[in-house]
Amino acid sequence: MVEMAALKEQLTYAYQFPLYRKLWDAAQFCPNDIQDWNDWTHIPLLTRNDILTTIRDNPPYGGFWFDGPKRLHITPFPGLGTIPVLASMEDVQRSIARETEVFRRAGFTRDDVVQVTFGYAPFYTGMHFHLVAEAVGAVVVPAGPGNAEQQAHWIAELGVTALITNPSFALKIGPLLPNNHRVRLIYAGGEPLSAVEGFRERLRSAFGGPGVTIIDSYGISEVGMMATECQAERGLHVYSNAIVTEILDPETGKSVPQGQPGELVVTQVKQEGFPLVRFRTSDLTRLVSDNCACGETVTLPKGILGRIDEVRKVKGVKLYPSQIAVVLAEFPEVSPRNYRVRLWAEGGTDHMELTIQSSTSHINEERLKERMRSELLIAPNRVCVETLLADGMQIIDERGKGAF
Ligand SMILES: [Zn+2]
Repeated sequence: MVEMAALKEQLTYAYQFPLYRKLWDAAQFCPNDIQDWNDWTHIPLLTRNDILTTIRDNPPYGGFWFDGPKRLHITPFPGLGTIPVLASMEDVQRSIARETEVFRRAGFTRDDVVQVTFGYAPFYTGMHFHLVAEAVGAVVVPAGPGNAEQQAHWIAELGVTALITNPSFALKIGPLLPNNHRVRLIYAGGEPLSAVEGFRERLRSAFGGPGVTIIDSYGISEVGMMATECQAERGLHVYSNAIVTEILDPETGKSVPQGQPGELVVTQVKQEGFPLVRFRTSDLTRLVSDNCACGETVTLPKGILGRIDEVRKVKGVKLYPSQIAVVLAEFPEVSPRNYRVRLWAEGGTDHMELTIQSSTSHINEERLKERMRSELLIAPNRVCVETLLADGMQIIDERGKGAF
C-alpha cells in the first residue's frame, strides 16, 4: 500500500501545475487539508475533459512542462484532441522496474523469445513492453501490429515462446501456427479478456491447450499499465505501491461497497511527469481484497467490464451499454462491436430491445438473455438480428427525460 506521507508529497507537487491549481482552488481544496484517509474524498475528481481544457488553456503541454530530461507519449482522442503525456526519465525507469517484477511473476524469463504485436507509435505500448521484456533478459521480436500470417511465420521461424498481444488478434494467429510451435505464454492487453466468459480457454486452445499460460492486463494511455495477472491467472493485481485505486458510483461520486461494479478512479504516486490525482478512467470494474500466493492483495477479478459512458437506469438497474459487448463476445457468430440498444416505456415500465449483427439468424436468444441477466442484471425484452448495423454501439432512448 501507498504511504500517506508519499501521497501528501505528491499532492503538494501536483498543486504547482495549473490544472490542479485551477480545479482545487475552485473547490476550495488545499493539499494541506489532507491529514489521513478520511480526508481523501475531499480531493476533487479529475476528468479527461479537465485535462483537455488545461491543454487548450496552456498549450502545448497543458502546463506540465518540468525541468530535466523527459519522454513524450502522444495520446490522440479522435474528435476531442491530443493529450501529450510527459514522463521524466525517473518515471520511465520506475515504471520499467515495476513491470519487470510483474513480468517475472507472470512467468517471463531470460530464456524467452518474446514477440510484441502492439504498435510502437504513436501510443507507447509496443515500446514499453519491448523495454520491459528486455529488462527481464528476454530477446524481443519487434513485430508491431497486423498481418497474422507474417506474425505466425516469425513465431515459428524465430522460436518465439511468449506473445504480448491483443487477445482477439492472438486468436487469429494461433490456428496459423505449426503444431510444434513453442509459444507457452501469452500476455494479453488492450481489450477485455477475463470479463468475457470462455475467451481465455478459447485463446488457450488456439495455441495448443493446457500448457499455455494466459495473462490478462490493464492500462490506459494517460497512466500506463496499472494491473496484471500473475501465473495463478486469478485476477489482475493492481500495482498498489504506485497507484491508489477507488471504485466510485459514477453518478454520485461516492465509494461503492467492495466487490460492486463502479468507475475506476486512480491516483499516481511518485509521478513527476503528468501526475494524475483522482482521475476518472471511465472504465467499469470491480475490486476485491485478495491474498494471492504471489503476495499481492488488491485485485480486479475480471479486469475491465466496460465503459461508464452512456450509463442508463433501466428497470431500476444501472445499464452500462458497453458491457453488452463483453457478453456478445462470448458468441462467435455475433459481432461484439456493432449493436443497438433501444429503450422505451410501456405500461409504466422500461423495455429494452437489443439488435445484434450476425450473418446467421440461428442465435441462441435464450442463452444470450441468460448471460446478460447474469452479467448485467438485466436482459432485453426482445433480441433482433440484422446482417449489417452501423459501426459501433448505438443507444436510442425513447423514454423521455422523466425516465432517468
Ligand atoms: Zn497473484
